[in-house]
Amino acid sequence: MLSFSRFFYFLIRYFSLVLQPYIHLVNVLNMSDPENEKRSLNFIESIIEEDLFNNKNQGRIHLRFPPEPNGYLHIGHAKSICLNFGLAKTFDGLCNLRFDDTNPEKEDVEYVDSIMEDIRWLGFEWNDKPYYASDYFEQLYQWAVKLIREGNAYIDEQPQEKISEQRGIPTRPGIESPHRNRPVEESLDLFERMRKGEFENGAMILRAKVDMASPNMHMRDPIMYRILHQHHHRTGDDWCIYPMYDWAHGQSDFIEGITHSVCTLEFEIHRPLYDWFLDQVAEGSYRPQQIEFARLNLSYTVMSKRKLLELVQDNYVNGWDDPRMPTISGLRRRGYTALSIRNFADRIGVAKRDNVIDVGLLEFSVREDLNKIAPRVFGVLNPIKVIITNYPEGETEQMELVNNPEDPEAGSRLVPFSREVYIEQDDFMEDPPKKFFRMGPGREVRLKGAYIVKCEDFKKDADGNLTEIYCTYDPDSKSGGSGANRRVKGTLHWVSIPHAIDAEVRLYDRLFLDEDPLGHEDKDFKDFMNPDSLKVLNNCKLEPSLKNVEVEEKFQFQRLGYFCVDKDSASEHLVFNRTVPLRDSWAKKRK
Ligand code: ATP
Ligand code: MG
Repeated sequence: MLSFSRFFYFLIRYFSLVLQPYIHLVNVLNMSDPENEKRSLNFIESIIEEDLFNNKNQGRIHLRFPPEPNGYLHIGHAKSICLNFGLAKTFDGLCNLRFDDTNPEKEDVEYVDSIMEDIRWLGFEWNDKPYYASDYFEQLYQWAVKLIREGNAYIDEQPQEKISEQRGIPTRPGIESPHRNRPVEESLDLFERMRKGEFENGAMILRAKVDMASPNMHMRDPIMYRILHQHHHRTGDDWCIYPMYDWAHGQSDFIEGITHSVCTLEFEIHRPLYDWFLDQVAEGSYRPQQIEFARLNLSYTVMSKRKLLELVQDNYVNGWDDPRMPTISGLRRRGYTALSIRNFADRIGVAKRDNVIDVGLLEFSVREDLNKIAPRVFGVLNPIKVIITNYPEGETEQMELVNNPEDPEAGSRLVPFSREVYIEQDDFMEDPPKKFFRMGPGREVRLKGAYIVKCEDFKKDADGNLTEIYCTYDPDSKSGGSGANRRVKGTLHWVSIPHAIDAEVRLYDRLFLDEDPLGHEDKDFKDFMNPDSLKVLNNCKLEPSLKNVEVEEKFQFQRLGYFCVDKDSASEHLVFNRTVPLRDSWAKKRK
């Protein structure tokens, strides 16, 4: 029975449907703050609401995330994780993690472990324990025997090429295998001997007997089992026959009591087979329902695990967690926060049609989050020495600097200032144009949080390289003091030379220069790799407060961008990764 509160809930929902266009307008206005984004239901949520309304499956909501452990998870998987675990949370349901480990040739425990780590890091916890399709191998085998017994499956001994040929094309019926109507006993016997290991790889297969004339090619007697003498990372050498995806997937959903089996659009055409298999094994009315949504595609990004594996194996990148990789572990190492990825997944929504999302939106999400939480610090990446000639030698002043103007709770810190400081080389020009509001001969700038200095002179070496800049400072211009109001156009970050600590900084940029690296028929995606996707700077100077940072700690290097401590970092050798620059330089380039 529908309880009163549920009835009330649906009443409100129906009103919200009527009001949807207006709600959407409010959403757009609220876009700047994802926590305030009250959006209308996506189409999967609508399906679930309706199922709840009809008390389908006694009101149970049970989803699953089914990765194949053949690679590290990427941002597309993150979308699917946020969707599935998010739906479970929204509707007070459950979400299983199930490893779809039916293809031992490419699978490995390293991948199993990384997948669990990534899901937890994203902030989700699976129901009960991790599940494995391989735990169902015996049940799947028994069900296959049932199908054979009932005349719905048979052993085909033809070579693979012959079988493909007979499948034909969608517009014309296929040709039936000569083994299609062999006696049930014969198929049963061969299937048992297949399991026992009596035959070579490829000697025969088990096929479902569905419909060789179906316009849906997946219904033309699809393969259920193949012979594969291959060690499995969980079942060892127990099996030498392995179920195909279509046979394993829906049945696994069924065994686990999944109610909504959410997957990407390419499986839409498999749905009739998904349902057909379930009808062969299931009694009663309960069936998992497959629902398809558009997979996430990102501009300037390659996402298929096979392609990512190629980049790793051929050393185009340094491992799956290289900060340039679109993997969750790569993004984490790059400095992305879990919240920024969840906000991104939320923002892009759930589509029914394939589309491409601008990778700039992902970068926007991490900027938005780091802006709120990352302490501001001074780091000079390409240092040039400045000597303040009228500042007392040997003196140090502690300048008080706000840690994060976005977060009053973050407080302030003291940063030492002295007669010699580093600034960025490109904050100085010998002959600057009018609009260059930084340092140049005769010009005044403020050293942020300290004094206004005026450039009096500079020195070069024999090769014409700038080596030193000479300035004078205005003692009455100290920030926070009585002279702090005096305005100059430029403000520069700086680091006191005697107090500076050294660091290596890795500047990362997009891995591909082309918006759609896979979209060129005559070219390989690796032809579009950005030769400047990694620049290593070895002579960076940081303010001393960064001495004891920890791996993954995040900062805003003022005026430059967001940076985080890399796992290669050690106390004598700090290494920072640039997560993103402060502004989207790609948007400008495109214009
Ligand atoms: P890939 O094509 O990158 O190899 P896959 O689909 O083979 O990915 P699986 O491990 O089978 O990877 O995927 C696990 C789940 O993640 C599936 O439900 C799949 O639909 C989903 N998924 C994979 N890629 C994306 C994506 N780009 N966007 C949304 N969901 C995805
Ligand atoms: Mg797959």
